[in-house]
Amino acid sequence: MNAKLLEIVACPICQGKLKYDKAQARLICTFDQVAYPINQGIPVLLSDQAVALSEEEKEPKND
Ligand SMILES: [Zn+2]
Repeated sequence: MNAKLLEIVACPICQGKLKYDKAQARLICTFDQVAYPINQGIPVLLSDQAVALSEEEKEPKND
């Protein structure tokens, strides 16, 4: 997954920036708390492919 691609991808739900999870080869939207799979180097940015993050995976919010 190259950095250039990461700059242009956006969450299909909120259009926000995605975070690359290198360890699990997926893209995370911290706003929606979902992860999108990366299939053979191609991010699958479909809302119906989004996987909800588990409680442990969620990042603490500062609210
Ligand atoms: Zn999102």
